[in-house]
Amino acid sequence: MSRFFTERLRELVPYTPGEQPRDMQYIKLNTNESPFPPSPAVLEAVARESGRLQLYSDPNCRNLTNRLAELYGVSPRQVILTNGSDEVLNFAFQAFADEAHPLAFPDVTYGFYPVFAALNGIPYEEIPLKEDFSIDPADYIGIGKTIVIANPNAPTGLCLSLAEIEQILQSNPNNVVIIDEAYVDFGAESAVGLVDRYENLLVVQTFSKSRSMAGARLGFGIGSPALISDLHTVRYSTNPYNVNRMTEAAGEAALRENDYYMQNCRAICQNREATAKGLRQMGFEVLESRANFLFARSEAIGGECLYQQLKQRGILVRYFSKKRIEDFVRITVGTAEQMEILLNTVKKILEETTP
Ligand SMILES: *Cc1c(COP(=O)(O)O)cnc(C)c1O
Repeated sequence: MSRFFTERLRELVPYTPGEQPRDMQYIKLNTNESPFPPSPAVLEAVARESGRLQLYSDPNCRNLTNRLAELYGVSPRQVILTNGSDEVLNFAFQAFADEAHPLAFPDVTYGFYPVFAALNGIPYEEIPLKEDFSIDPADYIGIGKTIVIANPNAPTGLCLSLAEIEQILQSNPNNVVIIDEAYVDFGAESAVGLVDRYENLLVVQTFSKSRSMAGARLGFGIGSPALISDLHTVRYSTNPYNVNRMTEAAGEAALRENDYYMQNCRAICQNREATAKGLRQMGFEVLESRANFLFARSEAIGGECLYQQLKQRGILVRYFSKKRIEDFVRITVGTAEQMEILLNTVKKILEETTP
């Protein structure tokens, strides 16, 4: 740290992204990327657009905004596009939370929430999940704070129902409720249909997981026109060109081939169920995931040990050294072949470590 780093940020603990190792080819099941490549139309669109890189991108991303609005049945004034959904989350924290509107989110959830809160000097409360790792909606009823909930939650994969989300929205009319739907395309119910009824609802989604575009950085928020207008104010005060030309073109092409991506999601859901079954047969407890990952633990082996053993054998999964979840590993659901290798490898590890 330099002696110039401001007092305010000295204590900031940054987010730790999942490993992206370069030492060898791993089966990468640690950052919830899609195992499927982008569709050919996306590759063509990126190549075409790259010839115009001397020009700034459209600060309003009108083409993609209109297409997204159409697909999700909202007005373009209800959509904001960002550099990954991490960016819209950061904008939303800046726009809708402060000392007077502190944040509330689960104690076990996406690791970026406390980081963005700290970066922006926003106080936050971490509300413990229930014993079974689910969110208790009652904890958020009338709480009078700016709420952020990942639905499905990460890294548990568990969901709230839309009725439960509605109760939270209704009981906190003076606070924004952010529903982070990074994994919604893998089998949860989206809250997008509620945005016209609740002016305090902001739904956040991403192209990183279900649409095979983690490396392009594209996310979006959907909410009431007034909420979205506030987010544009923050965006124009940060970086009006936050979505680059190639990414906007890639996003448009991806939406034109929505069926391809939704079919990939169905394949991942099938692989998820088969893998969960295989793990349970080996004695694992596996939470009921509606995402493209599984959160699992076994009494026979600790989370960190399983992570290390898998890594040695060329498979990367995610382990969190955090109280309550240190027995677990989070396994991204990949192709059927990858999951078969995973199950066989776990089986071998268990045989070797338990006499
Ligand atoms: C992956 C993820 C995001 C953000 O991903 P981006 O790549 O920035 O769009 C947001 N929320 C959760 C819960 C995630 O898992």
